[in-house]
Amino acid sequence: MPKRRNLSPHENAILLAEVESLCPFDAKPLMYEKNGRNQKLWEGAHIYPLNPTEEEIELLKDEERLHEDVNNIKNFIALCGDCHKKYDNPRTVEEYRLLVSIKKNILSKSETRSKYADYQIEKEIKDVIKLLVEGSDEGSYTPLNYDALKLDTKADHTLSRITKNRIRNEITENYLYIQQQFRDIDSQYPKTFNAIASQVKSFHDTLSRRESSQEIMYEQLTEWLYKRTGNISKGACGIIISFFIQNCEVFS
Ligand SMILES: [Zn+2]
Repeated sequence: MPKRRNLSPHENAILLAEVESLCPFDAKPLMYEKNGRNQKLWEGAHIYPLNPTEEEIELLKDEERLHEDVNNIKNFIALCGDCHKKYDNPRTVEEYRLLVSIKKNILSKSETRSKYADYQIEKEIKDVIKLLVEGSDEGSYTPLNYDALKLDTKADHTLSRITKNRIRNEITENYLYIQQQFRDIDSQYPKTFNAIASQVKSFHDTLSRRESSQEIMYEQLTEWLYKRTGNISKGACGIIISFFIQNCEVFS
């Protein structure tokens, strides 16, 4: 029977950061502060059980495993104490699948995040972000003609209906506005737009080599842009990625 492995402080920090310090089942905080000291309210749970019973082996026999070694950190997730107990007793396929999918998203995301620093973006993109955040005159936006939308020919079934609707709205409302901002920037600093477009395309192409979900790609491109531009506005970064869908650098 495999023994439970004690996680190192470094691995504990990774597990906590993966779930952003909230239990993925019920959003309870996993740490609390008392008398100036941080206390742990969570446990590293084995996603596939450490010592499965006969029933559990049968129950999970056809399920995907995150790692062949149950003590590998890929098979761990941080859960609050209550949810950990409930997760283990009784074991259900539904909860197992849920944790597997949560952890898979986390692993894919952290692999992508480790590449953020390698993919530059011209600093002038910040001006466009700031204009999107600060601009308030709705009258100055000219909507894009619906017939000109390229989204429907590019989106596939991996993009959810709500995200697709959001992207459609963002393109319709902002495409021409953003295009004008880039033209203004180019008139001051020639070829900036080309540089930015190829930087977006380059990171997109890297992502698309191992990620097939457009939903996740859209989210990760948005986050990359957000992190690379000083955490100003994730919303505005999403709008800019939508712009590049219409402009063919993304989902092409
Ligand atoms: Zn919980």
